[in-house]
Amino acid sequence: MLRPTVALLHNAIAVALLVIASGSASAQARHDLVLHNGRVIDPETSLDAVRDVGISNGQIVAISEQPLLGKRVIDATGLIVAPGFIDLHQHDLSQEGMRLKAMDGVTTALELEIGPPDISKFLNERQGKSLINFGTSASHPWARAMVMGHEAAEGELIPSSGEATNKAATPEQIQRMQQRLRDQINAGGLGVGMGIQYTPGATRTEIIEMFRVAAERDMPVQVHMRGDRVESVSEVIAAAAVTGAPLHIVHINSSCLSEAPECLRMVAGARARGLDVTTEAYPYIAGMTQINSALFNPGWQEKIGANYSDLMLPRTGERLTKERFEQLHASPQPQLVIVFNNTQPVVDEIIANPLVMIASDGTSGHPRGAGTFGHVYARYVRERGTLSLMDAMRKMSYMPAVRLENSTPQARKKGRMQVGADADVVMFDPKTFTDQSTFEKTNVPSVGVRYLLVNGTVVVDDGKLVDGVAPGKAITSRP
Ligand SMILES: [Zn+2]
Repeated sequence: MLRPTVALLHNAIAVALLVIASGSASAQARHDLVLHNGRVIDPETSLDAVRDVGISNGQIVAISEQPLLGKRVIDATGLIVAPGFIDLHQHDLSQEGMRLKAMDGVTTALELEIGPPDISKFLNERQGKSLINFGTSASHPWARAMVMGHEAAEGELIPSSGEATNKAATPEQIQRMQQRLRDQINAGGLGVGMGIQYTPGATRTEIIEMFRVAAERDMPVQVHMRGDRVESVSEVIAAAAVTGAPLHIVHINSSCLSEAPECLRMVAGARARGLDVTTEAYPYIAGMTQINSALFNPGWQEKIGANYSDLMLPRTGERLTKERFEQLHASPQPQLVIVFNNTQPVVDEIIANPLVMIASDGTSGHPRGAGTFGHVYARYVRERGTLSLMDAMRKMSYMPAVRLENSTPQARKKGRMQVGADADVVMFDPKTFTDQSTFEKTNVPSVGVRYLLVNGTVVVDDGKLVDGVAPGKAITSRP
């Protein structure tokens, strides 16, 4: 959809592989795995038809109107067979977090917003142990913290409010941040992650200098904007325009709130003028963040459109007062808080907009971590009909894959049900697929995903997680 040349290239690979497959082994080829008689959806080519899918060595090697032979055949009759969902924005990449993602249909979960303090450590901890594919961005907030002398504490997702987030950097410090970002991209980082609202000391010049690092590699900046809605969209689009860096605006729902329709018009306008600008949203009226972060620096009520009683602690459901807020904001303990500051009509309009990809911003303690994809399917495709099945699948897999193509060649084999693509496949029951997590009870797995394949390995089998498998691969920047 966004890059026709890639589709063509892909088709060429597909044809080549088909020739190899039919020439060497004829129709008698026995595949490692066959998905039989499911409704196959490919958002790039708009294929929507009952097919058999043959998988060998972790790749899709045949898509056929005729029955295929396999060492194992899964009966997919009545199931949707689609590219596994790619979540560009998932914070909880723990083993438990990945298990919840798998039950929600996700085969690749990436933390592209803030990124970790150290990419090599992040990748090493997960290598060979992950249920699904994983990856992350080079972190501006952590590069800034390092340069300005703040060390990450246990459980700290983003640097807590302090000098390292609130103070302007010197030109020399900005250069050191740039070098740190280059090193982190070389260590595998997928573009640059920024959380400008969490580093309010960063001047517009500092932001532009970070965009320049992304532009050097033609990789996107994935940004949580400064927090001034339309004005903040202007800041990041200008930074993209003057540096040439591709731009991905994260959670436009919670960053723009009631101004989201105008923010989306700005994204559309920038694209129409030739800029590579994309965006994403999660389907909930509340966000969640760290209460001792700079997002809650003085003036937050006006910026995020919330007051003390709109803040709720996960698990206990405690609503905050001024006193309780001040106590938690000043604490070095990185406590998470749920923020009810959006409305259902705004969320509904954003999710249906064709420019918007689905991404969860998932963390334990908010229903979005476990339920984003099931929720979008159940509410918008099945119940309200405001999204077609094809468009929903496009927003959940193909569009994120295309967004990733600047950062990694691995992305060209993701997000597609095509010969030559990686066998990351979700198979769900269209009548039952839904989320089950709520604000009262989070971390409840979604239901309706009957099978999930990651690089050809079955990780959800007849609705249940498979133990003892770890086929997830690191998704890393191009060398
Ligand atoms: Zn964010």
